[in-house]
Amino acid sequence: MSVPDRLGAPAAEPVFGTVALIGLGLIGSSLARAARRMNLARRIVAIDASEEVRGRVAALGIADRVTADAADGVSDADLVILCVPVGACGAVAEAMARGLKPGAIVSDVGSVKGSVVAQVSPHLPKGVHFVPAHPVAGTEYSGPDAGFATLFVNRWCILTPPEGTDPAATAAVRAFWEGVGSNVEEMSPEHHDLVLAVTSHVPHLIAYNIVGTAADLETVTESEVIKFSAGGFRDFTRIAASDPTMWRDVFLHNKAAVLEVLGRFSEDLYALQRAIRWGEGDQLFDHFTRTRAIRRGIIDLGQETAAPNFGRPQSDED
Ligand code: NAP
Repeated sequence: MSVPDRLGAPAAEPVFGTVALIGLGLIGSSLARAARRMNLARRIVAIDASEEVRGRVAALGIADRVTADAADGVSDADLVILCVPVGACGAVAEAMARGLKPGAIVSDVGSVKGSVVAQVSPHLPKGVHFVPAHPVAGTEYSGPDAGFATLFVNRWCILTPPEGTDPAATAAVRAFWEGVGSNVEEMSPEHHDLVLAVTSHVPHLIAYNIVGTAADLETVTESEVIKFSAGGFRDFTRIAASDPTMWRDVFLHNKAAVLEVLGRFSEDLYALQRAIRWGEGDQLFDHFTRTRAIRRGIIDLGQETAAPNFGRPQSDED
């Protein structure tokens, strides 16, 4: 299956009037770039608490206006997207709420949905629509310089509109994400948080753990960790380099689902441990055969490359 990695033609007319993005890191700045490239907004307002980030956004020229004042920044916005760490969403919603105009749509990109809904909803005035979203796309880099317009192309974006949400608001948010190249699916926040605990949150925790364990092992010096990292370990180090603030918040705010999945994970790990101890080669072989088939399925769905070494350019080191 061929995987499109490019944005298509921009919209003939801007899809939205003003789009306000709060938090211009990897995700927010990628959205600013993609929305501009695809003509999704007549005007983009960038809101960030950090002076350094605001300076970079202005220098990069990826927004029409840059401000620190959330309430003022959203005052003209038809669509507001919170792109801040999950733990900051409640405070940001509170700070911007008095500026929101009636009929505005508020969305977000948080990697956890139940907690974001609980944090943001109480602050939104009547007449403002809330359509939470999570683009399942990212890299291990942070900040406005790390963003790029094609980040969301052919990636899933999950919408979790609360019951009773105006279908027109959900359709508008869907159109925005389709405009930046994503495939869109809808589900409940609870289901989202369980699925993502399995597919993203616990795998990140495993990477953080194995890299920490390796670094702590007295017999494995730091230079050996680096020297022999072309083994599976290197792929864990990439994941374990992900933003500490973002991931701290993910685990604190998706606690129940992560603990549930970790329980299952630990039981399965013990089963593998037992098979190794008792020399049960058939069990190991069957397990690895099953997991290999799962990877083929992911490649067939266009969510990963089949190129050797995960598509990395070959180098002498490898
Ligand atoms: P990031 O690169 O660290 O950017 C976050 C930005 O928000 C930074 O500029 C940060 O400023 C700013 N910020 C923090 N608190 C704020 C506040 N109270 N008011 C205004 N601005 C504030 O993070 P990111 O990777 O783009 O992640 C943003 C969101 O996207 C998170 O909710 C994350 O769960 C979600 N997400 C991330 C990925 C991924 O792979 N990275 C994928 C999907 C979804 P400072 O630098 O000064 O803190």
